[in-house]
Amino acid sequence: RHLPYFCRGEVVKGFGRGSKELGIPTANFSEQVVESFPSDISTGIYYGWACVGNGDVHKMVLSIGWNPFYKNIKKSVETHIIHTFKEDFYGEILSIVITGYIRPEKNFDSLAALISAIQEDIEEAKRQLDLPEHLKLKEDNFFHQPE
Ligand code: ADP
Ligand code: MG
Repeated sequence: RHLPYFCRGEVVKGFGRGSKELGIPTANFSEQVVESFPSDISTGIYYGWACVGNGDVHKMVLSIGWNPFYKNIKKSVETHIIHTFKEDFYGEILSIVITGYIRPEKNFDSLAALISAIQEDIEEAKRQLDLPEHLKLKEDNFFHQPE
């Protein structure tokens, strides 16, 4: 209902859940950006397009979840960009468009189960984003604005 959803904001330090150690770093948006999200957008896993600064537009998967830092009363929004970056980009402006929904948040019995679920999410995102209705948003003017 809220999709596609366009959003732009600074990448901040997350809570070091070790996403990077799992091979799936997630760029966290600031609290301010998260607060600006529609409050009735469901938590869960989404996909779409993302770009850092004036860089290229890449596929991404995104998690909207409850933020353990704030006793789960505030949300966190974390983007995993499906691209290998040479360097971290904390402090840079991340622009995203969320185009589709994959699944609700889940708890996993093991780290291995979590990782394999995320790998499946990534594969699903890649497939969906190749479909014309999602692909067209990659070229949206939103990504070609001057800073
Ligand atoms: P944090 O807890 O600070 O969010 P993460 O382990 O989730 O730490 O790593 C996130 C950081 O990794 C991002 O803020 C970004 O600077 C960097 N990074 C490098 N490659 C990617 C990528 N492909 N997708 C998202 N973030 C990435
Ligand atoms: Mg993170």
